[in-house]
Amino acid sequence: MGIRKIVEIGDDTLRKHCKPQEKFDHRLQVLLKDMAETMYKAEGVGLAAPQVGILRRVAVVDITEDHSGLLELVNPEIIEKDGSQTGREGCLSLPGRQGVVTRPMKVKVRYQDRKGDAFELETEGFEARAICHELDHLDGTLYIDVMDRELSEEEIKGHIPEDDTQ
Ligand code: ZN
Repeated sequence: MGIRKIVEIGDDTLRKHCKPQEKFDHRLQVLLKDMAETMYKAEGVGLAAPQVGILRRVAVVDITEDHSGLLELVNPEIIEKDGSQTGREGCLSLPGRQGVVTRPMKVKVRYQDRKGDAFELETEGFEARAICHELDHLDGTLYIDVMDRELSEEEIKGHIPEDDTQ
């Protein structure tokens, strides 16, 4: 399979509620691999299964530049959150657009890996933001639904006051 097509806004798939992933089989391994490859090729920091047309609770996140921080999140849930951060956000399904979104500063996430083993992860800052964004996708929510404001083309290219706050 390899690189998959990323669904863009206007497609109903992005608005659906995803079902739990129940089988930890070869198909899931392939999906996770393809999603990571697709995310890296598109230069994104996260991708949720509905963005490639699969209505399952599966997401990948990697906020590092050298692709060393891949998180494979199966059936993830945020079980604790703390603080807040306000900053820029974009989405591979809404190319060319950005908004200012307020998210928790810290989250604790419970998830399963590709084998079905359960883990908990505590993280903060940009990775916490990326995880919140991807988990929203699993319930059909896009950042434009929760943003404080949309950025203009000029603002996307330049500096905005929110870049200085967290
Ligand atoms: Zn997105």
